[in-house]
Amino acid sequence: MADTFKAIMVSRDEDKKQSVTIEDITLDDLMDGDVVVRVEATTVNYKDGLAITGKSPVVRRWPMIPGVDFSGTVVSSSHAKWKAGDKIILNGWGVGETHYGAYAQQARVNGDWLIALPKSMKPTDAMAIGTAGYTAMLCILALEKAGITPGSGPILVTGANGGVGSVSVSLLAKLGYRVIASTGRTSEEAFLKNLGASEIIDRAELSEPGRPLGKERWAGAIDSVGSTTLANVLSQTQYGGAVTACGLAQGMDLPTSVAPFILRGVSLLGIDSVMAPIALREEAWARLSTDLDAEKLASIATTISFNEIIETATGILDGKVRGRVVVDMTL
Ligand code: NDP
Repeated sequence: MADTFKAIMVSRDEDKKQSVTIEDITLDDLMDGDVVVRVEATTVNYKDGLAITGKSPVVRRWPMIPGVDFSGTVVSSSHAKWKAGDKIILNGWGVGETHYGAYAQQARVNGDWLIALPKSMKPTDAMAIGTAGYTAMLCILALEKAGITPGSGPILVTGANGGVGSVSVSLLAKLGYRVIASTGRTSEEAFLKNLGASEIIDRAELSEPGRPLGKERWAGAIDSVGSTTLANVLSQTQYGGAVTACGLAQGMDLPTSVAPFILRGVSLLGIDSVMAPIALREEAWARLSTDLDAEKLASIATTISFNEIIETATGILDGKVRGRVVVDMTL
């Protein structure tokens, strides 16, 4: 009999009612691909919470093994770039949405989706960063390309206690920016200050509808919240500033006006990690391996085992998870 291994499977019945189970599967059950990877570490992102609970339509093929990112070792490959023993990272490309994902001990994927694990990192380090941290770096690269520097003024980070937010605070501080952290968990002030935040503001300040233009408070922002918060962030961005939009923790809507764009020359920069080209991914991961303080990363990350994924995925949607969650598949 073929070797079996554990996988989390989300399924739907005829009434489209979603269920989640842990199953024993074999390599034959996996989807097509030219590289088989032993998954050594993965993580629980907000998106994985949405997929496991069915709260938003993340899963677009049924049944599905969720999990949008992983790191591990190539077991076998017919792809020219990869051979057995190579250490890799995978983020996005529809993995965990349309292609069986990270929450199994093995994955079969398209070798074009993989990038090499930076030499300085272990799979668990890469997943402490995960898609959230890599997205934080995509935001920073976008701000830099828009001409923002530490001399431009402070940078606001919304959802600061979340995955994207906490890595953003840490990276920006290390790069010399003055960071304003917006959070609903002001009790976590010490945590955010330890990551490098200079000032903490209550997210309630930004969550209600505001004026089209407000006092200029920051040169730029990394927003993972969307909705009214993003509208207020834009209206309080200083002349010539830039704001990256990568998330929707408050909502998918954006009730803003053109005022910040046409009267202050503010730029709104969209960030997508899922289909980002390989060259940009490699740039982001190379920068993460140099710009992220290992000690800070350790303070952001909590390690869990495979059996704790489902419970954690529910908790992340309830705002109960601080920083990043690493799933060590060897536990
Ligand atoms: P987390 O759940 O770790 O962080 C989200 C944070 O947002 C929470 O910790 C909380 O921060 C804040 N928040 C939650 N609910 C609200 C609310 N109603 N109003 C205001 N703030 C709120 O998620 P991630 O960091 O993993 O992801 C953040 C967002 O970015 C998600 O929407 C996710 O889908 C998106 N994302 C997008 C990517 C892309 O490619 N564009 C890639 C990765 C993530 P606090 O407690 O500090 O207030």
